[in-house]
Amino acid sequence: MVKVTCFGGAGLVTGSNYLVETSGGLRLMIDCGLFQGGTDIERLNQEKWGYSPKEISNLVLTHAHIDHSGRIPKLVKDGFRGKIICSPPTAELCELMLLDAAHVQEMDAEWRTKKKKRQGRKGVDPLYTTADAAASLKYFSPVELNCTIDLEPGVRARLRNAGHILGSSIVELWIQDGPNELKIVFSGDLGRRDQLIVRSPEEIFDADCLFVESTYGNRLHRSFEESKDELLEAIRFAVSHNEKVIIPAFALERTQEILYLLGEFSRSGKLPNIPIFLDSPLAIKATQVFRRNKAYYDAGARAIVENGFDPFDMPNLKLTSSTVESMAINQLSGSAIIIAANGMCTAGRIKHHLKHNLWRYGSSIIIVGFQSEGTTGRQIVDGAKSVTIFGEKVAVRAKVFTIGGFSAHADQADLLEWVGHFAGDPKPKVYVVHGEPFSSEVLATEIKRRLGMNASIPRRNDPLILGKASAVPFPTTDDVVEQTLAKVLALTDDLQDQLNVLRGGLTERHEQLPYDQLRKLRGLQEELEKLVPSHGVSAT
Ligand SMILES: [Zn+2]
Repeated sequence: MVKVTCFGGAGLVTGSNYLVETSGGLRLMIDCGLFQGGTDIERLNQEKWGYSPKEISNLVLTHAHIDHSGRIPKLVKDGFRGKIICSPPTAELCELMLLDAAHVQEMDAEWRTKKKKRQGRKGVDPLYTTADAAASLKYFSPVELNCTIDLEPGVRARLRNAGHILGSSIVELWIQDGPNELKIVFSGDLGRRDQLIVRSPEEIFDADCLFVESTYGNRLHRSFEESKDELLEAIRFAVSHNEKVIIPAFALERTQEILYLLGEFSRSGKLPNIPIFLDSPLAIKATQVFRRNKAYYDAGARAIVENGFDPFDMPNLKLTSSTVESMAINQLSGSAIIIAANGMCTAGRIKHHLKHNLWRYGSSIIIVGFQSEGTTGRQIVDGAKSVTIFGEKVAVRAKVFTIGGFSAHADQADLLEWVGHFAGDPKPKVYVVHGEPFSSEVLATEIKRRLGMNASIPRRNDPLILGKASAVPFPTTDDVVEQTLAKVLALTDDLQDQLNVLRGGLTERHEQLPYDQLRKLRGLQEELEKLVPSHGVSAT
């Protein structure tokens, strides 16, 4: 028996963590990411593991993004002593990312401790320290893409290019399960076709079970060319007002993509002659890793190198590593482009730049990446009139450009095309993971409807028993409609039951008003009014 439990990255886009177990006692893990995006979600990082880290023999890591790798130092601190299998660029990037994440954890704990002590309460420890992160690095054991390795008796693994960020991998696992061999594929985060810098995701054609991400399972990206034009327009808008261009970007990949495009604009004479600041020590170091790993470039990036250019450099680019240099940017009058992390505006130098520029009419804020629910970035994208930065309310008067076409994630069409390669008989069972609930739901429905594959959405912490691929009958549109309708009716029944319980509580004789029931009922009333907006409006 092979069992997989999604301890993170299920019903969520962060905290990726999948445990693979066999009846023979194997415990293997795919990814060990940090939960990110708002206090409620981040609280999950403090929860106990759903397993003993000591008992995990190997961790296969898809890529260096912190929502896939960010709990590795904690895993090692708590007893993991196996190998961390990943591609060579992933190992290089993780060294930067994990040390940086540890620093963020330490700063955060220090800030919380000060605050708590002022209230006469006990301080808090960081999730892990820089020393923990450094100690975890020795367990990294890089393997090249496309090489099949024997992980342990009866288990082989192979990493394939996922085309998402430098070194990102799809994981193929073959596990001997009694007389059968089971092939499990984990997509990791999948890139788009024709994404900048990295090659397109590898097409794979067979599996017994497939775990596929669904970050953009319900959406289509804008065209890339259109997005490039929008980027240039956003820069020209701020330049015409003599204001700044602020680009919150993840230090890894998105920053290099933006530099790559600015370099292209610069070489073709389209870029206004203004200073460009890469204001992130982490992004500066990550860009060096990109420069060292040219073998992973796609044809476009290689052509730039062959023509004697650095794809990530241009004449006006200034790298501001130190805090003093960073602070000096805000004293500078006139236009400039500032690229700073983090990409969701929840921490890092970007918060200072937003505080100085968000309220200024004529500035451009260019959102080039996915914004999780609950983040400052998401509030800005959703049109908030003001946001709170460092405890201060800051008006949003800058022009916000949300440019969807630079995503490093496959969109719905890309995902369906990639999953479609597996659709020949026998078909794998598809598990849709790594997405917000609606996004996963839409992708699972489309996989069933368009590809005729059995797809479901695992819940966090629920074990899944995996089986061999099978030929499943193609569900008709009617089947899908009927199943959805049945779900809606079941939910309606549940609601009716809840109402009956509440009504029971309210109709009993009470000395005082039963506030608790009343509060719940009012909550339900509000929810229902949102669903039925015309309720109470009489027809004319
Ligand atoms: Zn990623």
